[in-house]
Amino acid sequence: MSQVAISSAALGRKLRQFLNTQIIPNEGILAQGDNLARELTLDLTRRAQQAGLFGSFYPLHRGGRFGSLVDYLSVAEQEGRSEYGPGIFGADATLDAYMLSQHGSASVKQRFLTPLLKGDAVSSYAMSEPDSIGSIPATMQCQAHLQDGKWHINGRKWFICRAQVASFATVVARSSDGPIDQSLSMIVVPSDAQGFKLVRPISLLGRYQGQNELSFHHVQVPQDYVLGQAGQGIALMQKRLALGRVLRSVQWLGLAQRSFEIMCERIHSERGQMARLADKQLVRARVYTVYRAISAARCLLREAALKFDAGLPNAVEVNVAKLAVSDALSQAADSAIQIMGAEGLADWSPLSGIYRAARTTHILDGADDALISTVGKHLLQAQYAIQEETDMNKAIA
Ligand SMILES: Cc1cc2nc3c(=O)[nH]c(=O)nc-3n(C[C@H](O)[C@H](O)[C@H](O)COP(=O)(O)OP(=O)(O)OC[C@H]3O[C@@H](n4cnc5c(N)ncnc54)[C@H](O)[C@@H]3O)c2cc1C
Repeated sequence: MSQVAISSAALGRKLRQFLNTQIIPNEGILAQGDNLARELTLDLTRRAQQAGLFGSFYPLHRGGRFGSLVDYLSVAEQEGRSEYGPGIFGADATLDAYMLSQHGSASVKQRFLTPLLKGDAVSSYAMSEPDSIGSIPATMQCQAHLQDGKWHINGRKWFICRAQVASFATVVARSSDGPIDQSLSMIVVPSDAQGFKLVRPISLLGRYQGQNELSFHHVQVPQDYVLGQAGQGIALMQKRLALGRVLRSVQWLGLAQRSFEIMCERIHSERGQMARLADKQLVRARVYTVYRAISAARCLLREAALKFDAGLPNAVEVNVAKLAVSDALSQAADSAIQIMGAEGLADWSPLSGIYRAARTTHILDGADDALISTVGKHLLQAQYAIQEETDMNKAIA
């Protein structure tokens, strides 16, 4: 085993221990989303930092521990075993840490990136809108125009994670007319900018999970708060997705694995033994099906991460892996609830939150149907190209 593999295994064990002893027992409080939950999150974040468990996959030159996504996967899975782990371990900020580090100006790095890496700031990403189709960026309405060295931003965004506590949002806006791949820009907007309004929290499936609606009314920010070049928004969105979908999916895999463990624990428990659950074929079939779904999804994620590390195009691998993880998580949460009986449905059970989260994964970060359609299109194009080449070779021979 290589040195990195040993240290990621050791870090994964430490994280698991921290999560089991300090986060999971507090999940009931953290789920409330109130001031007490916020204070506790902050306190647990500080403890995670002191234990060396924070920001494990931040860019290497900015304090991260891993230069390879594949090496980080097993650690990220542990971070994701609780819905609250990614926030407390700083993993929620990893994608923005990369985006700001690679595409931010000196002033963006100083004002937004530095506090983010220290855990002193929270980030959010504002793309989705009430009046546009999330799966079709060309329908985006939010406007940004440059005047006297400042971006002037107007528009609405919704379902924005963490915006209620974030100190800034990376806003995707239309900055010019013309083809979509030249007319969107990503602009960093501080939450205290005049005209930046938190309109309302949005509850999902009966519980507030940290999503919000925002509005921007004549918000002004300096010209160099744009990420990369103006008009590069689509290219940056693709970069975000190549890493972001893997990061999010591996955390969901953590929730799926935890659901599997809860299910097995119940089967072996006194109550499970009373009902002789381990002897029932339908129960064994559930264990098998969930295990297979999780293991297959883990392999697909690894394949996507290997290509990411090698700098190769990985859109198909990432999308297939994301779809597989969502299915694995939904199956795992549903089977665990079934085996737990009524207790699995109770709000005090972690499965109630996991089950809600599982449903959202089929829409968040790319709706299932849109991803399936895109993957099918790519696969057909690739097969067509192979077929054409074979036919051409036959004709030459
Ligand atoms: C928990 C959660 C957190 C979120 N966090 C954020 C955030 O932090 N920032 C942010 O900007 N957004 C966020 N979102 C929004 C999310 O990114 C969008 O919901 C997602 O991109 C889908 O866009 P949409 O909701 O507009 O659905 P649409 O794109 O309108 O799609 C609706 C449905 O239409 C169908 N459909 C669409 N395209 C196709 C196709 N090509 N083929 C077949 N069927 C299709 C599918 O059934 C799809 O589910 C979050 C959403 C959730 C649920």
